[in-house]
Amino acid sequence: MSNSQYNKATYLLSAHTLDQCPDDIGMEVAFAGSSNVGKSSVINAITGNRKLARTSKIPGRTQMLNFFILDERLRLVDLPGYGYAKVPEKIRQNWGSVLRTYFEQRQSLTGLFLIMDVRHPLKPFDLQMLDWCQSAGLPVHILLNKSDKVSRGAGYKALQMVKRNYPDEYMTVQLFSVLNKNGLDEARDKLDNWFSGHQKP
Ligand code: GDP
Repeated sequence: MSNSQYNKATYLLSAHTLDQCPDDIGMEVAFAGSSNVGKSSVINAITGNRKLARTSKIPGRTQMLNFFILDERLRLVDLPGYGYAKVPEKIRQNWGSVLRTYFEQRQSLTGLFLIMDVRHPLKPFDLQMLDWCQSAGLPVHILLNKSDKVSRGAGYKALQMVKRNYPDEYMTVQLFSVLNKNGLDEARDKLDNWFSGHQKP
């Protein structure tokens, strides 16, 4: 898929439960990140479409899986963010069980883009997501976002730290910045790679 194809992403639907997800055919890549890491901005940068990011932030949609279609076969999915510390325990448990089942059962799910703030990588939320993906055998690509906020040296150090902690052949990691577009081509190449059926990093 050429990079410009990501500009064609359009909002499809939001799902509270797995039953409400679109038919499990074709391929999809999901995006996750704890709140404020820039997940919406990253989706926005990759698709070049500001409206998409806003779509998932509409009150009521923040706790849902928001689906965007690229074409009839390919989708991006914005997973519920983690304002979870602020939500009641019951909702948090439900969030966990929906996501875990989604990772384990969704046939079309090809990989997860996990967004972190380069200054605070591998927070408990991230470890949880990595754990669930590993159990489900799902490849993960980590974006260390906001790399414009740190020096080259600090960015490199964070990159090495994550690689050292997760030396998994199905886990890849890169620096990213929405602000200066650092890593944008690399991120789109990764999506291309997954969507073309090459699961290995
Ligand atoms: P979300 O809650 O993870 O969806 O985060 P948002 O996309 O709403 O971004 C949170 C804040 O971080 C916003 O003020 C963004 O403008 C800012 N932000 C996102 N990405 C970057 C980045 O790469 N660099 C900088 N400096 N700020 C960013």
